[in-house]
Amino acid sequence: KLKVRFAPSPTGPFHIGGARSALFNWLVARHAGGTFLVRIEDTDLKRSSRESEENIKDSLKWLGLTWDEGIDVGGENGPYRQTERLDIYKKEVQRLLDEGKAYYCYCTEEELEESRKKQVAAGQTPVYDDHCRHLTEEQVAQYKAEGRKPVIRLKVRKDGVFAFDDMVRGHVEFQASGVGDFIIVKSDGIPVYNFAVVIDDSLMGVTHVIRAEEHLSNTPRQLAIYEALGYPIPKFGHISLILGADHKKMSKRHGATSVTEYRNMGYLPDAMVNYLALLGWAPKGEQEIFTRDELIKQFSMKRVSSNDAVFDIEKLNWINFQYMKKLSPEQLLDLTLPFIEKAGYVKTPLSSEQKDWLTRVVWYVRDHLYYGAQAPENVKLFFEDLPEVTDEETLSIMKQETSGKIITAFADALEKLETFDEASIKKCFSSLMKETGIKGKAAFEPVRIALTGVTHGPGLYDMIALFGREKTLSRLRDSLK
Ligand code: GLU
Repeated sequence: KLKVRFAPSPTGPFHIGGARSALFNWLVARHAGGTFLVRIEDTDLKRSSRESEENIKDSLKWLGLTWDEGIDVGGENGPYRQTERLDIYKKEVQRLLDEGKAYYCYCTEEELEESRKKQVAAGQTPVYDDHCRHLTEEQVAQYKAEGRKPVIRLKVRKDGVFAFDDMVRGHVEFQASGVGDFIIVKSDGIPVYNFAVVIDDSLMGVTHVIRAEEHLSNTPRQLAIYEALGYPIPKFGHISLILGADHKKMSKRHGATSVTEYRNMGYLPDAMVNYLALLGWAPKGEQEIFTRDELIKQFSMKRVSSNDAVFDIEKLNWINFQYMKKLSPEQLLDLTLPFIEKAGYVKTPLSSEQKDWLTRVVWYVRDHLYYGAQAPENVKLFFEDLPEVTDEETLSIMKQETSGKIITAFADALEKLETFDEASIKKCFSSLMKETGIKGKAAFEPVRIALTGVTHGPGLYDMIALFGREKTLSRLRDSLK
């Protein structure tokens, strides 16, 4: 039965690339009816933090990537945090030591550097020189007496290749001679990532390892560990890097890179999932908007490209916009309210009247919202005083004689209007245009300028209805002063 895993190192903000790896694993699991496991790889004690772990778990939950086994949810193969599995690793290391497949190495940094230099000078790719493979008891006693703290290295075969068929990249192989006896346990007794990951994937029954391309070069070492331990080797799939628009590795320079940043900007989790799925996966056909069920049904590692994926913020925005359009007025308010409040325009809790009105306001500007954080700039018209008009062309429109006439007439008519709603306002303005003979641009532009400061914008009548009578009249009249 298929089992995949996502195994993040909690060493910083949860990157978009990590979210995509998690998503691909989740999709593969859900597609096959298999298990999705989440394990925390925190053996890098200096860089790991609980805060980062919480952020990763929160982000996964926000994206809706629920897991069946692992951290917090539990399972038969726990614990699921590597620092809580040190005893397990110790046993496996001991087994390798007993079987003569691993050994203590007492070399100092200086000695290693020396040996590296010699190899480089001789035109070789530097690997460990095997100095401690066959130490005599006297030598060991000597090193111990010197107070040297050993690491543990794996004995790696020198002949042949480490080869595997990657789900994304096809056949991949590495010369065994280029691997060398590498460290599996550091001098502080903590196993390295390459060792812990193999033990965990083996004992947890992972069948497919789908992860970022940066781990491709770790795979030969991991294969050497699988061989030494005698565990079955899972299938590997290395998914390509995510690049910025300039085709360089995506980083802060390219804008937001963490899931939290997108969440805080008011992107929708379904849209993020939809977009991330398309970063490297090429569905059949032209469809770009996929429900989760459609993704689960159609996703296949066979159609994941080995080419680097380029992060395209405009495409993400377009996709997010498609999902924003599916929100109800109430949902749109829920999404945008925190931003509107942060801008200082309203204070929660809203009265029910305020809530109704604000729901209509955000609905009115919805065609201009790609994501939630864009709400304040789009609704500011309803909250801030009009900036002074300085644009020459706009000013000249206001100087036309007809402009003053239509604005005055409109203000007077609106003052007397019985019901102040969109339909009545529209009717009122139409009959004014007939009465005064001022029509088209000559009528609309001055009114718009008086109300908004500019000649263009979304629907005039619904905007006036949202402004309400008082604000509309004062803006119209102030514009004549
Ligand atoms: N812990 C590793 C990382 O966060 C992932 C290891 C793996 O997927 O094999 O980069």
